[in-house]
Amino acid sequence: MAALSDPMAVGPASRRGTRTATVSWGGRHVVMGGAEPVVVQSMTNTDTADPIGTAIQVKELAQAGSELVRITVNSAAAAAAVPAIRAQLDRMGIDVPLVGDFHYNGHKLLTEHPGCAEALSKYRINPGNVGSSSRRDDNFAQMIAIACRHGKPVRIGVNWGSLDQQLLARLMDQNASRATPWDAREVMREALVTSALDNAQRAEELGLPGDAIILSAKVSQVQDLIAVYRELARRCDYPLHLGLTEAGMGSKGIVASSAALAVLLQEGIGDTIRVSLTPDPGGSRSREVVVAQEILQTMGLRAFTPQVTACPGCGRTSSTYFQELAGRIETFLRTRMPVWRDSHPGVETMQVAVMGCVVNGPGESAHANIGISLPGSGEAPVAPVFVDGVRGVTLKGERIAEEFEALVEQYVERRYGAGRAPVAAGIGGGEAAH
Ligand code: SF4
Repeated sequence: MAALSDPMAVGPASRRGTRTATVSWGGRHVVMGGAEPVVVQSMTNTDTADPIGTAIQVKELAQAGSELVRITVNSAAAAAAVPAIRAQLDRMGIDVPLVGDFHYNGHKLLTEHPGCAEALSKYRINPGNVGSSSRRDDNFAQMIAIACRHGKPVRIGVNWGSLDQQLLARLMDQNASRATPWDAREVMREALVTSALDNAQRAEELGLPGDAIILSAKVSQVQDLIAVYRELARRCDYPLHLGLTEAGMGSKGIVASSAALAVLLQEGIGDTIRVSLTPDPGGSRSREVVVAQEILQTMGLRAFTPQVTACPGCGRTSSTYFQELAGRIETFLRTRMPVWRDSHPGVETMQVAVMGCVVNGPGESAHANIGISLPGSGEAPVAPVFVDGVRGVTLKGERIAEEFEALVEQYVERRYGAGRAPVAAGIGGGEAAH
């Protein structure tokens, strides 16, 4: 058994061995599965028939870090707008691949709008929503034929709320004849898994290559999601799209998604994730992208942006100044990332600490690349800065925030910039923290 000091003892399991599926637009290729990094994706909530409004939101999501963006294609007007959305994005220099989300009429829209079929980089088909029972096989086959003709991968995405009722009824009947019947929830979970797997097999029989298939089986309860995806992972080697559907608003949505996804990702299950958050009125849609990135980064699976370690504050802090500074630094880092991303490789792994007082401030700051320990109540009004574990300058006065931002900028330049000079013992030198 590995010792607890061994980081691998608590690290994520190695990724599940899967095929890979590639979603492309122009020269951009997003690969899911195998040992590839877990892909972050999101979905617009604009009316797709409004090409400018939708292109603007796709751009916002892509710039926030969404590596695929899904748009609903629910009407002839929406399908007709898809090539215009793609063209507008191309004009804006946004090469994020678009995924079309189809329900009920996808076979018709893709047939009647070949420009839409071509402009999309991937189709999402919900086998529970491809038409009435007499038409569903034909409609499904029609969509798979179009995917084959255009060389597009397909996500077969089953959903708890739109489960194939014929399949569910059949599994219920089979269950009734078991010596010890499963409970209804287990049958429902099995129906989700069976629907995803059966439809993937059918798509392959219809000619869709196995490496052009991604599966998902979304539910809204954490324990159901974990059980369903463990079973999918056990029974197939398609890349899996993870996400809790209807996760909810605010902290509930974030916590539920994090809890469910973390368990599965820790087991090496999941090749692309979407965090489905209901935005607050007026809230930014790109919040779901940031949350997805934070799940992956806090688990040590990927790095997207420098992380801020901040204490929660307590009775030792006399004001909210340090909380405001932590928020300000986080915003500063996110704002600078589009500039740093290409010119300062590795900066996304940087840790910045903003701590409220002397109790844990110096220690935590010293564990970060750069940190600041603000004065708690009763302490001298000075804020020592630590760089690579070494105490450096001490800031004081009204401009601590601005000066600390400047020190962070200098650190990034020295540590990750073109020159990459080794970082000296602290900005301004000084005594060791410990
Ligand atoms: S570092 Fe200081 S202010 Fe922050 S929580 Fe700990 S004791 Fe409180």
